[in-house]
Amino acid sequence: MKFKISLVFFLLLTGIASAQISDLERIEPAFWWVGMKNPKLQLIVHGRDIASRSVKMSYPGVMLVKINKVENPNYLFLDLEISAQAKAGSFTIAFDKAGSQPLQYQYTLNNRDRSPNRAQGVTSKDVIYLLMPDRFSNGDPSNDSFANMREKGIHRDSMYSRHGGDIQGLMNHLDYLKDLGITTIWMTPEVENDEPHASYHGYAVTNHYVTDPRYGTNELYKQYVEKCHSMGLKVIKDLVHNHAGTEGWTITDMPMKSWVHQWPKYTNSNFRYGAVTDPNAPESDRKQMLDGWFDRRMADMNESNPYVQNYLTQNHIWWVEYAGVDGFRLDTYPYNDPVYMADWAQKVKAEFPHLSIFGEVLDNQVANEAFFMQGNTVNRGFDTHLPGVTDAALKDAINEALNGKESWDGGVNKLYVTLAQDFMYQNPMRNCIFLDNHDMSRFYSVVGEDFNKYKAGMAILLTMRGIPQLYYGDEILMAGVSNPDGLVRSDFAGGWPDDKVNKFTAEGRTEKENEAFNYVRTLIRYRNSTTALQTGRLMQYIPQRGVYVYFRYDTQKTVMVIYNSDVKDSKDLKTDRFAERMSGFKTATNIVTNETLSDINTINIPAKTTLVLELKK
Ligand code: CA
Repeated sequence: MKFKISLVFFLLLTGIASAQISDLERIEPAFWWVGMKNPKLQLIVHGRDIASRSVKMSYPGVMLVKINKVENPNYLFLDLEISAQAKAGSFTIAFDKAGSQPLQYQYTLNNRDRSPNRAQGVTSKDVIYLLMPDRFSNGDPSNDSFANMREKGIHRDSMYSRHGGDIQGLMNHLDYLKDLGITTIWMTPEVENDEPHASYHGYAVTNHYVTDPRYGTNELYKQYVEKCHSMGLKVIKDLVHNHAGTEGWTITDMPMKSWVHQWPKYTNSNFRYGAVTDPNAPESDRKQMLDGWFDRRMADMNESNPYVQNYLTQNHIWWVEYAGVDGFRLDTYPYNDPVYMADWAQKVKAEFPHLSIFGEVLDNQVANEAFFMQGNTVNRGFDTHLPGVTDAALKDAINEALNGKESWDGGVNKLYVTLAQDFMYQNPMRNCIFLDNHDMSRFYSVVGEDFNKYKAGMAILLTMRGIPQLYYGDEILMAGVSNPDGLVRSDFAGGWPDDKVNKFTAEGRTEKENEAFNYVRTLIRYRNSTTALQTGRLMQYIPQRGVYVYFRYDTQKTVMVIYNSDVKDSKDLKTDRFAERMSGFKTATNIVTNETLSDINTINIPAKTTLVLELKK
C-alpha cells in the first residue's frame, strides 16, 4: 500500500492521472432537492484541471457561496445555499476558461417525495432478514459480468468470487420472505465495488452513488424499495463510512492528501475496541484503531476532513430521498471518527425523523456495546446520537445459554446476567438482536446442528426485546463455520436457474428443513401479531436448576417463555415464584403446538427446549 499511495501522489503532482479523466468527469450529488432542512449543499466537481476554470450559475433561491480549490487541480468543491423559497427546476453550471471549450452541467433540484411509507423506520415491531445479494438469487444472468469491470465472470465454485446474485433475484423472492413473516430486508451493500478480487461482499465501495451493475441499476434499486413498500416490507440500507475501496475514483485521484488517513507504511487498525473505550488507553493505540486501515484494499477515510464529511453525509441523505429506504445499518461503527458520526446522525435525523439507525458493534461485553449508544449512558461525557447497536453481547449470551456449562454466571446464567445490564442502554429495544450474520459461524453450526437447541435459540430470539434479525438460510438450517467468511456465505439453493433443488418451496426442502421453516414462521407470525413481544416490557427471573423464565407483557397479553437448558432431563417447574406476572392467569396456550395447558401451577419442560406460552385468564 505504501507503493500505491506514493504512486497516486506522484501521478497527482505530475498531472499524469489527469490525462485519464475528461474535462468534466462528474458532479456529485448529480441532483438534489428543494425543501431540505439543511440549506447547504457541497458539490464535488471532478474533471481534468477543472480548478483552472471559472464557475457561473444563476437560479432564483440558490446561491453559489464559495468555490473551494484544493490540492488536486482536478477538483472543485462548490458550496451552494438553497433557500426555503427555492422552487424545483434546473439550471446551468458553466465552467469556462479562455481558449478552452466551455463546459456546462445541467443541475436539477427536485421536489421531495413525502409519501408516508418512505423512510418510515424499523422498530422492534419488525423482523429483519439479512442477506448478501450476490449469494441469494440470480434473477438476471445478463448482468453477471461486465467487460469494463475489474473482476470478470462468475465462479460459483469459489467462495471468493462473484456468484451472480442480484436485486432482481431478491425481488423475485419477496413472496417467500413475506410468507415467512419477515417485515424488513437488510441487504449487504449493493453499491459499486469494482475491486479486482473478492468484491462480492460490498464493503469496499468504489462509487458511492452507483448501484453495482452486477446487482442492477439505481432505478432498479428504487423499484425494489417501492415494491417492498407496496407489499408492506421495509428496507434497510447498509452503509460504510469508515473505508472505501482503493479503486474508487476519489482514491485513485484524491482531492487532497488528507482525504484518507496516511501512514508512513501500510498500517492496519489494531481492531481493538478497547483502544477507543478504555479511559486508560494511550493516544497511539486509539489513533491506530481509528485511523489504521481495515484492509489493504479498503482506504481509511479521514472523517475529520470537512470535505469527506460532506461527501459521505450528503451521499447517505441522497439515497434516502432518492429511494425511500427505511433504515441504515452502519458498518464497522467503532472504527469511525466519533465526533463526525454524532454530527452525521443528527443531520440524517433532521431530514428523516423516523429513519432507524443501528451501528455494527460486535463485542461480548454489554458495556462495550453501550459505549457507542446514544444518551451517554456510560458516563462517556459525549453523546453519539446512535439509536441502536448490533447486540453481539446478547448473541454470545444466548449461545452460552444453549451450549455452556451451568455455573454462577455461565450457561443460562450468562443470558440472565447480560440482560440484567440493560440499564446501560438508553433503550435496548432499538438494538438489532441476532444469532448469526455474514461475519460469523452460522447459528445451526454454533449449536452443533442440534435441532432442539436450534429451536430453543430461535424461540428466545423471536420473543426477546429488540429488533430480531435472521440471516438468510437460518430458516432452512443452512450451516457453515466461519473463517474464512465465505463458508457462511453459501448460495441459497434454488436461487439460480440451474440449481437442482429449490428450497424456496416446501417441495424442495427436506422434511427437517420444512419443520425448521414452519417453526420459525410460526414464531415470527406470532410476534407480528403480539404487541407484548414487539413493544411490551421484559421481566426476567433468576435462573434456577438450569431453567430460565422471562415474560413479555403489555396491557393486551402476557407471554411466558421458559427455557430448560438441561441436555438430558425434562423439568417440572413450579410456578408460584412467578406470581408477580402470573397471578390471575389460569391456563396457557403453547403457541408452537397450539396445545392448551389447563394447569399452569406446574409446567413440564422437555430437555433443551424453549416453551412459548400465552397466558390466559
Ligand atoms: Ca445476475
